[in-house]
Amino acid sequence: MEVEISKLRNIGIIAHIDAGKTTTTERILFYTGRIWRMGEVHDGTTIMDHLEEERKRGITIQSAVTACSWDYPKGVKHQINIIDTPGHVDFTAEVERSLRVLDGCVVVFCAVGGVEPQSETVWYQATRHKVPIVAFINKLDRAGADYWKVVEQMRANFSQKIVPIAIPAGAEKDFIGTVDVIEEKMRVYESETDGTKWTESDVPDELKDICEKTRYELLESLSEVNDEILELLVENKTVPVKLIKKALRDAVINKRFVPVVCGSAFKNKGVQFLLDSVCAYLPSPLDVPDTKVYNLETKEYSTMKNSADGDFMALVFKIVTDQFLGKLAFLRVYSGSFNSGKRLYNTTKDRVEKIDRIFSMHADKKEIIKSISAGDIVAVAGLKNTRTGQTLSSKNTNLVFEPPVFPDPVISQALEPAKPAQLEALSIALSKLVDEDPTFIVRKDETSSETIVSGMGELHLEVNIERIKREFNVPIKVSTPKVNYKEGITAEIVEVGKYVKQTGGHGQYAHVVLKLSPNSEEKFEFKNSIKGGNIPSQFIPSVETGVKMGIESGPLAGYPVRNLTVELLDGSFHEVDSSDLAFKIGSFETMKKALKKAAPILLEPIMEIEIRTPTQYLGDVLGDLSSRRGNTGGLTTEGNLTIIRAFVPLAEMFGYATVIRSLTQGRAGYVMSPKGYERVPQQVAEEIIGKE
Ligand code: GDP
Repeated sequence: MEVEISKLRNIGIIAHIDAGKTTTTERILFYTGRIWRMGEVHDGTTIMDHLEEERKRGITIQSAVTACSWDYPKGVKHQINIIDTPGHVDFTAEVERSLRVLDGCVVVFCAVGGVEPQSETVWYQATRHKVPIVAFINKLDRAGADYWKVVEQMRANFSQKIVPIAIPAGAEKDFIGTVDVIEEKMRVYESETDGTKWTESDVPDELKDICEKTRYELLESLSEVNDEILELLVENKTVPVKLIKKALRDAVINKRFVPVVCGSAFKNKGVQFLLDSVCAYLPSPLDVPDTKVYNLETKEYSTMKNSADGDFMALVFKIVTDQFLGKLAFLRVYSGSFNSGKRLYNTTKDRVEKIDRIFSMHADKKEIIKSISAGDIVAVAGLKNTRTGQTLSSKNTNLVFEPPVFPDPVISQALEPAKPAQLEALSIALSKLVDEDPTFIVRKDETSSETIVSGMGELHLEVNIERIKREFNVPIKVSTPKVNYKEGITAEIVEVGKYVKQTGGHGQYAHVVLKLSPNSEEKFEFKNSIKGGNIPSQFIPSVETGVKMGIESGPLAGYPVRNLTVELLDGSFHEVDSSDLAFKIGSFETMKKALKKAAPILLEPIMEIEIRTPTQYLGDVLGDLSSRRGNTGGLTTEGNLTIIRAFVPLAEMFGYATVIRSLTQGRAGYVMSPKGYERVPQQVAEEIIGKE
């Protein structure tokens, strides 16, 4: 770390696709001196989007961390680590993963589009992870830009107190700069120097009223959370600027207030004020709540102070394969400090690890550093057996960070190398991709012995398949992707099962009483309610294993059964004949019988889709959606575009990219993510079951 921990900011920049996240990030890197030529999104030169795939698709898939520094106030250096988060919701895992290691974030809105459905999604994601926010309303230079309308939309949609601390000076093509509401100063950015220079002056007459009004509203809001400000207001006294900033900082860190600033990243205006605000109001690693840790042995949660004292503990939140360095793991250090070359423990896996080199990542280069401590986010080389989501510690303890929870993969595809000789190369490529992405799953089908990959959507699989071909140079053949169905139950039943073999020699004896009940959650739960040792505790794990084996293949079409709770109510055992094996087989067979009687149903993944289409095609797009069993969740308009939010079964969405292109002459776009599983209508279910 180049600065002390209180001057460190770990932030993410999140936004609705097209709001200007990439451009804003590029400008930040330019103004903080890390790059000397600004990249533009449309000519494909931006530094953050460095992967080939991203260039081709024009979206940010892989998140990278970039360190830069900024003086605020003058002479006081802050280090800002930017964790780049993807804008595409097919890659939810990436967003979730990066939000976990952030201390604060900037949410970018478009001054024309305002609050769009997907900006709500990312906002709620940030809120769910309890991340303090600074909002940046971008594109004020565009025709139709309306800062106050977007502020009102934010107030209507979000629960935090939305407080503008900047006001645009000029509008649309005459947008020249911003007024600082707290300091009551105007900044006009010079176009000739790409905005690196600006002139500061008093608030011009035409903006005085609005500036005073906004400032007074800010003070009133702050008086609700700060007694000192309340007293000064009541006594009609001046509130010092320093006090306003401190009160606002506290309120932002407590997640109650969101300051709003504005600008035009593209026209190089307002980004520096955004950087000032990041330093002024977003938390340092010391300001965030203690981190939750989990003890694998006692199965209890506790908290850990985010401080450089104490044992070293870090979370691996991302792994990438670097062309030159091999496996690079990105760490967030939560406690203690560490020097490269020393031994570490992977406490999740109970293994010893070694870090050879530590890198501070900048947009244009990697810098080797010797030591790291609490708050740092860095890349390290040398780890052999560590995967995303695991914990590294200087001590061999049982403590781990809670692994992030990801939705189950909803789509699968079989693949094989084009040439049999490349089987090993393929398996190396797959294992690297699995290390990087916990939502990309690889398994071998037991009956067909095919290699099956699963993921979060068609695009997710497509991107990984492209990477196997191009990055790892393994030509492959793939089958058509298939939906991952599940089965569920709708009736509660109690099943008594006995597995008894007592003819000759050593016999087998197991007796279980299982209660199956439907569970609204998409998961399976096992409960042990045995009383008085009717089944000795040593056999309970075997009962659980048998039950789990039983739900792996459902009675309708062999899909895994979820959405159920299985409770072991009662049973009995035999002193001599009972064994682990007997209880496994007995429970497995009892489950098989029970599932058939529990009114099984087929469940399918439902995708949430957001489509932006020119309104003239609205009828066609909606008609097509309803023919796909889609339910429209809402329509909003933005100029001559309509934004449709809908829920559609994944099974109906194959090849949708091509369909929507032809329906709208290529003018509509969409994003899609898994929403959960729902019951398949009877008629459709019969067809699917018939095919199996
Ligand atoms: P992202 O999808 O959120 O990363 O958005 P990008 O940064 O890729 O921007 C989307 C498009 O909007 C690009 O064509 C940018 O050049 C353009 N853009 C970004 N910021 C501004 C801005 O402040 N004003 C205008 N007029 N266009 C912008």
